[in-house]
Amino acid sequence: MEDIKQDLNEITYANYLKFEHNITKTGWVVPAFLILEDLFARRILLNQPVVISVLIIQGLLFCLFIGLSIFKTWQAKCLDKENKEVLFELIKLFEIIIFAVLASTMYHGAFFHFAALLPVAFITLTRGFKKTIPYIVLSFTAQVLSQYVMLTRLAKSGTQTLISNFAYLVVITVVQYFLFALFCFIWSGIYNEYARGRAEKNILIDRLGDKYVQLNQAKKEIQSHYDKLIETNNQLEEANRKLTASLAELFTLQQISQAITSIFDMNELLKFVNDVIIGVMGVSHSTIALCYGPQNKLKVQVSSIVDKKDLAIVSDYINCDILKPSTEEGRSMIDNDVNEKDYPFTKGRNIKAMICVPLLAKGKTLGIVLIEHKMKDAFDYENMRLLEVISQQISIAIENARLYQQMHDLATLDGLTGAYNRLYFNDKLQEEFNKAQEGGHDLSFLIFDIDHFKKFNDTYGHLFGDQVLKTLSGYIKKTLRKEDIFARYGGEEFVILMPYTPLEKAREKAEDLRIGASQLVVTDRVISASITISVGVSTYPVTAGSPQELISTADDALYEAKRSGRNLVRVAKPKNMPENKEDI
Ligand code: GH3
Ligand code: MG
Ligand code: MG
Repeated sequence: MEDIKQDLNEITYANYLKFEHNITKTGWVVPAFLILEDLFARRILLNQPVVISVLIIQGLLFCLFIGLSIFKTWQAKCLDKENKEVLFELIKLFEIIIFAVLASTMYHGAFFHFAALLPVAFITLTRGFKKTIPYIVLSFTAQVLSQYVMLTRLAKSGTQTLISNFAYLVVITVVQYFLFALFCFIWSGIYNEYARGRAEKNILIDRLGDKYVQLNQAKKEIQSHYDKLIETNNQLEEANRKLTASLAELFTLQQISQAITSIFDMNELLKFVNDVIIGVMGVSHSTIALCYGPQNKLKVQVSSIVDKKDLAIVSDYINCDILKPSTEEGRSMIDNDVNEKDYPFTKGRNIKAMICVPLLAKGKTLGIVLIEHKMKDAFDYENMRLLEVISQQISIAIENARLYQQMHDLATLDGLTGAYNRLYFNDKLQEEFNKAQEGGHDLSFLIFDIDHFKKFNDTYGHLFGDQVLKTLSGYIKKTLRKEDIFARYGGEEFVILMPYTPLEKAREKAEDLRIGASQLVVTDRVISASITISVGVSTYPVTAGSPQELISTADDALYEAKRSGRNLVRVAKPKNMPENKEDI
């Protein structure tokens, strides 16, 4: 309600100023018309001479009106709202008086009282009926007084006529003002309703505007919340994707590390890892190549490439220059737009993308993992990173396998000759004996000793003696079958275990070895020398019934060979022949 009142005041005041402005601009027309009408009435209608004093009063009133209008226009520009209102109200008083006096100077003044009420009418319209009342009273007073003055000054008739004329004019004025006041009352009521309606409408529009602004604000907030939700959702999706990828990665690495601990065969392990890479990365091909030899040349170890021709191309060109950043500098490479001219190992294989990651251990390149895809842009840096992690695992596995091999060699092989050591041999002997016993097949045992080796050492030196031991071992290893087990049994005593070999075959083999050894020429830059060996042979089940018997009977045969002159092969006596060993 307060809002409406305030708004109503605002509207009416704004209208008041607007009307005032119009009156100021065009109001001069009314007094000018009145003056002309009076001239017309007196000169033309009544044919009276011009009354100069009346004309002067009218002219002065007109000028005063114009002057006030100019003053008002000028002041309106510089005054603030309150001062302007006060000034306008003051000037309004003058305007009312001017119009009232002007109407009184006219011959037809009674008909033009409305002109005196014109300025008041605007107040009713803009400020309400109550505010109009003082102006009506003022106008009425000015009207009556000025009429009286005009009647007394200008009338040539007697007092009686003057009084009756004045009374007549007062009555007309009272009636006119009463009607006008009534009219103003009705008019202001209608106007107030109209203004109230407008105020209410304005408030409604304002409120609607407020609501619209609030709505827009709410919309913006909802949009911002929605955007945040979308952003959070995207972040969640991204986190989920990364989590899934990490899980897959973790699973893959777990699979690989499990394989490392459970698969001891290097090739089998690499095959498994290669399959895992294909599975987890969805690549067309995966190849693992390892470095060999003094020049660290790559050799394909395992590959998913089935086509023999394609595999041959990869094997032939795996050492090409383009892969050197990986093989020589240990850097990973990625290319999603492979040109077969640059990558010779892809020649005619329709490969469009590849990643090559080195297998590194202690700063050394052990090999590479090469994954390929038939689709362009198939890989991203995430794939490369995963392959790098997998490659680290493979490198550890290779390193472990090599260390294991070294330890195994240390534990089982003789350092000088590369033959198995006695400890390992004893295990193997028991194992092979059990097999032979269970399988019912022959197991032959050879023991040989270099003849007069002490003297040899004394003559050529211990180092040269070592050289003889190495050369002889190398020769023996070359002549044996895969299943034969060759070991250094003592200083210059060696043994050979030959599964599935009957006594006669073993004797023949011993004879071959004896001849072969005697033909060996051991040489360094200054010395050249040769040796002979004596051999003892025994076979399960013909000459021995247990591992210990195999050794002892063969050792006896060797002793016999030495005793018989050396550079000889002697075979143990069959178990049912208790006396003398057979000479060969
Ligand atoms: P024979 O066997 O013919 O009866 O005479 P032998 O001189 O070879 O005698 P024996 O088999 O007992 O010889 C053992 C010698 O072998 C002693 C040692 O000088 C030599 N020998 C043992 N182990 C090594 C080794 O690792 N290096 C070298 N250079 N000599 C060794
Ligand atoms: Mg000996
Ligand atoms: Mg000897």
